[in-house]
Amino acid sequence: MTKALITGGAGFIGSHLAEYLLNLGQEVYIIDDLSTGSIYNIQHLKENPRFHYVIDTMMHEPVLAELIDSCDVVYHLAAAVGVRLIVESPIRTIETNTKGTELVLKWAAKKKKKVIIASTSEVYGKSTKIPFTETDDLLLGPSYKGRWSYACSKLLDEFLGLAYYREMGTPVLVARLFNTVGPRQTGQYGMVIPRFVKQALSGSHITVYDDGQMVRAFSYVGDIVGALEKLMAHPDTAGKIYNIGNPEPVTIENLARRVIELTGSKSTIEYVPYINAYTEGFEDIRERVPDITKVQKMIGFEPKVSLDEILRRVIDHFRDNENV
Ligand code: UDP
Repeated sequence: MTKALITGGAGFIGSHLAEYLLNLGQEVYIIDDLSTGSIYNIQHLKENPRFHYVIDTMMHEPVLAELIDSCDVVYHLAAAVGVRLIVESPIRTIETNTKGTELVLKWAAKKKKKVIIASTSEVYGKSTKIPFTETDDLLLGPSYKGRWSYACSKLLDEFLGLAYYREMGTPVLVARLFNTVGPRQTGQYGMVIPRFVKQALSGSHITVYDDGQMVRAFSYVGDIVGALEKLMAHPDTAGKIYNIGNPEPVTIENLARRVIELTGSKSTIEYVPYINAYTEGFEDIRERVPDITKVQKMIGFEPKVSLDEILRRVIDHFRDNENV
C-alpha cells in the first residue's frame, strides 16, 4: 500500500487529505509546524495505526529528508495561506513558500519520489479572461503590494517543480487549487466563508467588502482531496499543471445572502470599504472561475458538492464547535 507524506498535514486541506488517504488504506505521514495548522485538525486521526505525525518545521532538513525517504509520494501542501496573513506577513509568506518547496524538491529528486505541489488560482492574478485555463498568461500586480508575494512565491514553486521534472526527470506535478472550503477552515486568515458563517451565527454584521460584486467559485475540500489522490496515482500526470475547483460562480454579495438564509440569522450585510478591511498591500481580484476541462479529461474529475451543501456543512461544523 502507498505510503504518503503530506507537508502541512495538520492544516485545513492537509488534514482532509490525510483522512481521505487513510480511508483508502494508505499509510500516512504528516509534517506540520502548527503555524496555521492545528493539532485539533488531526486529533481524530491519531488513533489510526497507519497515521504518523511529526510536529516540526519542514525547514528542519534531516527530518524532512528522512520522511521523504520513508514514503513513496509527497503531497506538498505546507505554505503560508490566507489573504489577511499574506498582506500582514509577506516575509513569512515568501520564505515559507519558496524555501520549503526547494527542500521538498531537492529530497524528492534524490530519492526519486513523485510530488504534487499545491499551487493556487492566485497565480492567475487579475486576469480578466474568465474562466482561467492552465495555458493562460498570468497578470500579477506590482511588488509594492504585498498580496502578490503569494502568487509570485507560488509561481516560483511551479517553475522549480517543472524544472526538476525537465532537468532531473523527477515526477512533479502542479495542482492549482481554487477557493477551497469545508469544515475546519478557519476565518482567522481572512477566508470569506468561515468568516461569514461565524458572523451570521453570532448575529453580527456580515462584512461584504466593497460592492460585493466580486465573483468566486468555491469547491468542497472533499472533492479537492479526491482529485489530488487521483492525479498522484495516475501514471501520466508528471510535468503538468492542473486547475482543481468547482466552476459554479457566485458574487460575494449573493454568498452573504445565502449564508444569512441558510443560518436563519438576523444579521444584515455591512458594506466595508477595502481601506477599512485590510492593511496596505491589499488589492482584490474581481473574478475568479476555473476551467477544469484538463483535470476532467485526465481523471474524470467532477465536483460533487454544491455551494449550498458546502455552506450547510460549514454551518453545522461551526454550530457543533462553537469555540473554533
Ligand atoms: N471578502 C469579503 N468579506 C470578508 C472576507 C472576504 O467580502 O470578510 C471578499 C474578498 O474581498 C474577496 C472574496 O471575498 O473578494 C474572497 O476572499 P477570500 O479571502 O476568501 O479569498 P480570495 O479569493 O480573495 O483568495
